[in-house]
Amino acid sequence: MSQTPDLLVKDLHVSVEGKEILKGLSLEINKGEVHALMGPNGSGKSTFANTLMGHAKYEVTKGDILFKGESILEMETDERARAGLFMAFQYPVAIPGLTFASFLRAAINARIAPSLGEDGKAPTKKGIPPKEFRDLMRSKMAMLKMDEKMAMRYLNDGFSGGEKKRAEMLQMAMLEPAMAVLDETDSGLDIDALRTVSDGVNALMNPEMGLLLITHYQRLLNYVKPQFVHVLIDGRIVRSGGPELAIELEETGYDAMEAEMAVATA
Ligand code: ADP
Ligand code: MG
Repeated sequence: MSQTPDLLVKDLHVSVEGKEILKGLSLEINKGEVHALMGPNGSGKSTFANTLMGHAKYEVTKGDILFKGESILEMETDERARAGLFMAFQYPVAIPGLTFASFLRAAINARIAPSLGEDGKAPTKKGIPPKEFRDLMRSKMAMLKMDEKMAMRYLNDGFSGGEKKRAEMLQMAMLEPAMAVLDETDSGLDIDALRTVSDGVNALMNPEMGLLLITHYQRLLNYVKPQFVHVLIDGRIVRSGGPELAIELEETGYDAMEAEMAVATA
């Protein structure tokens, strides 16, 4: 098909603090597709996720990222979110006094907020009405088989690994992104968290959404089945294939693939 892909990453070079981390990453993701980006620690996976969301520290020195045919490089993070890109927050701190429900409501309001009016003034629109919000949250929680009590808890306050993942899935469900990026941090996911991610993804994936699952662990792919698997080593995608590539990696590990690359480029 010659249609424009939803997300098109072209020869992306990214530097952090003057050091080049991504060295020519190219990738295309269409709606309805689940892709896995895998690679050893330090290969640049999180750098890519942060660059997609427009984190200021990550400097694009070459290449482009097109979303629905338009470059997003000049867009601020909130504009990218409004355009339909989603990346789960990592909840670095607990916020006493802010319930998870309030957090979600603020996230939705930010997402639907129109940009500044032509007069340069902030819009007067008040955001999603309380009842509509509650109904939406209830239906999404039911879809994810979540206990409604969780929404009343303070954000990240004593959330277990599995609960953090559930919170992330609910956030994704509520925002209904066109393209979601889940960066699975390298601190190991327990079985509960793995199941939550896979059940959530399986419940939420739809033909209108694309998903990029970033993971160091082959293990996660026993639960979520991507159609496409890419291996990132030293800032470049060195192999792309179907699910069989993840199985191959499980058997041989990244070392073998790195050694193979070293020979090929010597
Ligand atoms: P991965 O997620 O694949 O483990 P990262 O993208 O986190 O890899 O890191 C790749 C390289 O970029 C590492 O050498 C890391 O030290 C560097 N790096 C990433 N983010 C930052 C940052 N915010 N500040 C300094 N160095 C960074
Ligand atoms: Mg990482």
